[in-house]
Amino acid sequence: MHPSDWRLINGEFLEALPAVLARARGNATARALAQNDWLLRRKSDGRFLALRRGAVVRELQRGALTPMLLADAAALADADAMAEAPRPLSGLVERLHELGLDEVSYSEETGLVLVPEPSTLANAGRDRYQRQLWLTRETARAWQRMRAAAMTDGVVLEAISGYRSHDYQLGIFRRKLARGQTVEEILMVNAAPGFSEHHAGSALDIGTPGEPAAEESFEKTLAFAWLECHARGFGFVMSYPRSNPHGITYEPWHWRLANSGSV
Ligand SMILES: [Zn+2]
Repeated sequence: MHPSDWRLINGEFLEALPAVLARARGNATARALAQNDWLLRRKSDGRFLALRRGAVVRELQRGALTPMLLADAAALADADAMAEAPRPLSGLVERLHELGLDEVSYSEETGLVLVPEPSTLANAGRDRYQRQLWLTRETARAWQRMRAAAMTDGVVLEAISGYRSHDYQLGIFRRKLARGQTVEEILMVNAAPGFSEHHAGSALDIGTPGEPAAEESFEKTLAFAWLECHARGFGFVMSYPRSNPHGITYEPWHWRLANSGSV
């Protein structure tokens, strides 16, 4: 499979990644990966739980999949289509309530809305940390075009972070709650799960070598100056400029695809 055809298939609790993307530790694992199409990963903590070929799911460790996860793995088998239709939000709302988070009042306080996850994502190469970067197909294309254009101008753009799932953000909340923090304390540092543009797969945090990730000092870089001049032409806009109407901290590193690029 060509890298541009690599997809992440998004389930309720699991996501499927092409097995070829996994690095094998040991011959037995390498063989197992070569014999399977998909690797199933738990969204909340990124743990690899099973392999799948066609409709056959094989656990990596016996008992890795609870009945709930098995049902999700079976549903993924029917979802191999390339559709990017948004996934339902019902499961997220239920999990927010379990944490004691009221999405309606949070939305009123912040002016932010719940952001559904797409049902599939496209591979957009690797990020600064050599992790696979996942974005909607359109965003992946626009990002790769923009990055190449910057490169010809001698400017290196790096992805810091692209798509993030609701469960990933919920996992951060659960771990902090388990350590004794309150929801209010966590919300001062982390956005409520479900309300980040990163869930849509159309936003990414951009950096440049030698510059710390997601710091305001990014606005002083050549990369930022380049983005200010050219990003619009590729369809990207800065979501949270200074004094934005949402009252969100200035984030010069956070850009989203607003429309199909005009380039
Ligand atoms: Zn961001």
